[in-house]
Amino acid sequence: FSEDELEELRGESQRAYDLDRAHVFHSWSAQKQITPMVVSRAAGSYVYDGEGRPLLDFSSQLVNTNIGHQHPTVVQAIKDQADVLCTINPAHANDKRSEAARLITERLPASLDRVFFTNGGADAVEHAVRMARLHTGRRKVLSRYRSYHGGTEQAINITGDPRRFRNDMGDAGTVHFFGPFLYRSEFHATTEAEETERALTHLRRTIELEGPQTIAAVILESIPGTAGIMIPTTEYMQGVRALCDEFGIVYIADEVMAGFGRSGTWFSFEHFDVVPDLVAFAKGVNSGYVPLGGVAISDAISATFADAAYPGGLTYSGHPLACAAAVATIAAMEDERMVENAAQLGETVVGPRLREIAATSPIVGEVRGTGMFWAIDLVKDKDTKEPLAPYGGSSPQMNEVIGRIRAGGVLPFANYNRIHVVPPLNVSEAELREGLAVLERAFTEPV
Ligand code: PMP
Repeated sequence: FSEDELEELRGESQRAYDLDRAHVFHSWSAQKQITPMVVSRAAGSYVYDGEGRPLLDFSSQLVNTNIGHQHPTVVQAIKDQADVLCTINPAHANDKRSEAARLITERLPASLDRVFFTNGGADAVEHAVRMARLHTGRRKVLSRYRSYHGGTEQAINITGDPRRFRNDMGDAGTVHFFGPFLYRSEFHATTEAEETERALTHLRRTIELEGPQTIAAVILESIPGTAGIMIPTTEYMQGVRALCDEFGIVYIADEVMAGFGRSGTWFSFEHFDVVPDLVAFAKGVNSGYVPLGGVAISDAISATFADAAYPGGLTYSGHPLACAAAVATIAAMEDERMVENAAQLGETVVGPRLREIAATSPIVGEVRGTGMFWAIDLVKDKDTKEPLAPYGGSSPQMNEVIGRIRAGGVLPFANYNRIHVVPPLNVSEAELREGLAVLERAFTEPV
């Protein structure tokens, strides 16, 4: 920025901030207790704050700008689409929606051959659940504690997170179970094999006691994201698939955060060699450049609605601008080998550096991840594993760590006692190393 541009940016930012505080109602917030950072420019792996200061985006915003900010071919595709057609009734067919559906289903197992488009992740989950209920004629949905599935009525009830349990009445028909998480095992397990076996037994008991004939779906983030990037074993995921088959339960994979390359594969269930019945996606499908989500549907579930109408829909289902962005995003990811980049740099740079940091830092309890999808579990004491902030809350120590990271020029994704390393998939090795050095310093000084 030139001095004049900076001057103008500061003026714009102050006005944006003042109007925000006067009129905008924010998600998940006590409205009087927040001081949101103004962002009006971004490029590649960087966002610029209201002062024009660059911050390395280790958050990909809410883990969605998988191709980085302002990717030129995607920006151009949106402009080109805006010139010819901005919006249509979703009952019509449209070239960009058709092409987006082709590109998405091509990257999924052959049985998932049809896509219903939504506006984001929560409504993708809503519709996946609705399809499962209509398909099975059953009502209950089983999901993990330590999960995030969205902020709308059904999705938030399915979500297993203190943020919901503290503030919401809950809904009959949503049942939670414990998933595998060895570091903080609910099953007193000491090995992955024990954790897997006990978690599967617990799920089987839950299904039996709830009554299989009442259960429409089990929904799982293949790799839980917001809840802490706990990678399950292949045996666990295959065990869940087998339980669903045994009891005629629909298996919904929520790939909203972990999908579209984030974990180093196109979809994160690929790590476990399982095929879901429904796949909810959003975020990375077009890197959030225009709101878009969807549900990929198995042939068997599609067949339920072949001659009987699906009783659900959305005005913006398959919005042309959003689908044009998806087509261009998937092309850019392929052309620039972004999924491969994420897999490779995750394995050769992020994983090894984070493990090095964990070995020396007094507050890093565990690091977990794959691809550009990593979580750092911060603790007060490595032996007791007491979290640096309570589950569902914050602490002065955690705020101190977040402050240090930001002061070092890195924008983290922080959740309770965790810092997540989730940069764009096309982040460079130099950018990664620079950001990881900032984290190392933040975790080394005493808190
Ligand atoms: N499912 C998962 C796994 C998510 O991570 C999110 C968003 N963080 C959602 C669903 C909800 O998506 P959205 O915020 O687009 O409604």
